[in-house]
Amino acid sequence: MTLRIVPFYPELLSIYADRGNVRVLEQRARWRGIPVDVSPLPLGSDLDPGAVDAILIGGGQDRDQALVADALVAQVPALRSAIADGVPVLAVCGGYQLLGHAYVDQSGNRTPGTGLVDLETHAGPDRLIGNVLVEAEVDGRTERMVGFENHAGRTTLGPGVEPLGRVITGAGNDGVSGHEGCRVDRVIGTYVHGPLLPKNPWLADLLLGWACAHRGRSGELTPLDDRFDLVAADAAATIALAERR
Ligand code: GLN
Repeated sequence: MTLRIVPFYPELLSIYADRGNVRVLEQRARWRGIPVDVSPLPLGSDLDPGAVDAILIGGGQDRDQALVADALVAQVPALRSAIADGVPVLAVCGGYQLLGHAYVDQSGNRTPGTGLVDLETHAGPDRLIGNVLVEAEVDGRTERMVGFENHAGRTTLGPGVEPLGRVITGAGNDGVSGHEGCRVDRVIGTYVHGPLLPKNPWLADLLLGWACAHRGRSGELTPLDDRFDLVAADAAATIALAERR
C-alpha cells in the first residue's frame, strides 16, 4: 500500500523551497515505515486520478504560472475526480492562486486557473513580502502556522470559502482581510512558503493522515519526535512577531 505523492510541474512551480514540502511528507511517512512513491507530474502529462494519494502544487513567478496554466486547466477533470475521492491537495502561493478562477498580474494579463476553488487573485501595486504567522483552523483544531510570504497577488475568497486561518502578523490573502489561505475539505491553499511543512509538522501529518486514509491505510499516525521542528517554528514565530507590520 505504497503512498503515491504527485507534485505538479516541480520544475516550474517550486519557488522559495516549496519542493521541501514533498520531502517532508515523504520522510515523515518513511519514518513510520510507510512506503512512499513520489511521481512528479511533468508539464503536459495527464494525472491518473486513480493513482494518487496526495497532490502538491508549489509557487511560481507570474511567468511560470502562465507557462503551466493551460496544462493545469486541462487536468481539471482528473483533479476533480481525485479530490472527490478524498485526495488531499496542498497548493502554495502561485499554485494556490491557480486553484481559483484566474490570476491577473500587474500588467492586467489574465492567467486562467482551475476554478477548483471559488476565489480570484489580482496583483496589487507592490509585493507582500516577509515572515508570516497565522492561527490556522482545521477540523475544529487551532494550530500555529509559520513561514514566509512573497507575492504581488491579492486573493479574494468567494462566498462560503473558508480561509485556512487568521493572520497574526504578515499580509496573508490581501494584507487587509486578516485571512490567510483557503480550505475546502481536503484542499488547502496558502501563501506560506519556507518551505511550509518543516516548521509546521501538524499540517504535514494532517495531509499525510488524509493521504493514508485515501490509500486505505489507517489515518492514525504514530507520533514523531518533532522537538527540532518546533524549536525552528518557535524561532520563526519570534522573528515574525518582532517584525509585526
Ligand atoms: N506570481 C505570484 C505573485 O506574485 C505568485 C508568487 C509566488 O508563488 N510566490 O503573486
